[in-house]
Amino acid sequence: MTPPSASPLQNQIALVTGGSSGIGYGVAEALAAAGATVVVNYHKEAEPAEKLVQDIKSRGGEALAVQADVSKEEDVQRMFKTVVDTYGTVHILVSNSGIQQDAAFLDMTTKQWDSVIGVNLTGQFLCMREAAREFVRRGPQPDISKATGKIICMSSVHEVIPWAGHVNYAASKGGVMLLMKSVAQELAPHKIRVNSIGPGAIATPINAEARDTPEEERDLLKLIPYGRIGEPSDIGKVAVWLASDESDYVTGHTLFADGGMLLYPGFVGNG
Ligand code: NAD
Repeated sequence: MTPPSASPLQNQIALVTGGSSGIGYGVAEALAAAGATVVVNYHKEAEPAEKLVQDIKSRGGEALAVQADVSKEEDVQRMFKTVVDTYGTVHILVSNSGIQQDAAFLDMTTKQWDSVIGVNLTGQFLCMREAAREFVRRGPQPDISKATGKIICMSSVHEVIPWAGHVNYAASKGGVMLLMKSVAQELAPHKIRVNSIGPGAIATPINAEARDTPEEERDLLKLIPYGRIGEPSDIGKVAVWLASDESDYVTGHTLFADGGMLLYPGFVGNG
């Protein structure tokens, strides 16, 4: 058995949506460290994306920042065109962008519903479709990777755990689960692998408010048997594995990285 390579993603082009903060930032850093050229998509703020690009380049890697709103078809198509015009193709998509707009169900507005579904579900569809079109157009490159292309959706433990007060978010992630599985089923004959990562609680701007006070942090930790809140780098490592040939026989799965949140710790003892 050959040991895993230190640069398992060498000569591969990866696009990470929402790569300028939080989990996307950690994933982009990890893919670059594994040898990939990384396209860092950002929505509004160019500065952190450009900073990440400079960091990657200063370590000898290659990267590019590209603005796009993933919920808009014309933006997504422009972004993929820029990637293909610049680097010739793309091998890995990490469809990571996501938002929360929380409200009690009785008060939730159609705008709150539409914007979360627009970014978290339609955005995933648009990016996955453009990536898959490019993988099929380019065809296999077995000397670069066993799979013709790899898609990784950033889902959540909330693709299976219901979430009162966040029904738009939970519905979007539940949708991502069957989007991912159905696309995996359809594209497997093209040797395209499609999987999701299901993070638990990872310390990022999206949940900063839920960790504001020591009491809130303590309450959150009660949900995590492993006893710590996750870091973006925890997810970056999972993304590298799912993008590499090490996981070549894995498609259509959500890999939960959640410190055991899905073990339902509330049921320890008598429940
Ligand atoms: P974050 O707020 O740091 O990152 C979200 C990213 O999405 C940002 O970079 C933002 O600019 C980008 N984005 C938002 N709207 C966009 C749009 N219209 N077009 C393009 N990009 C857009 O939060 P995060 O925690 O890093 O979230 C990343 C992903 O991880 C999300 O899909 C989120 O649902 C998922 N997730 C996070 C956690 C967690 O605990 N942090 C847990 C489970 C799942």
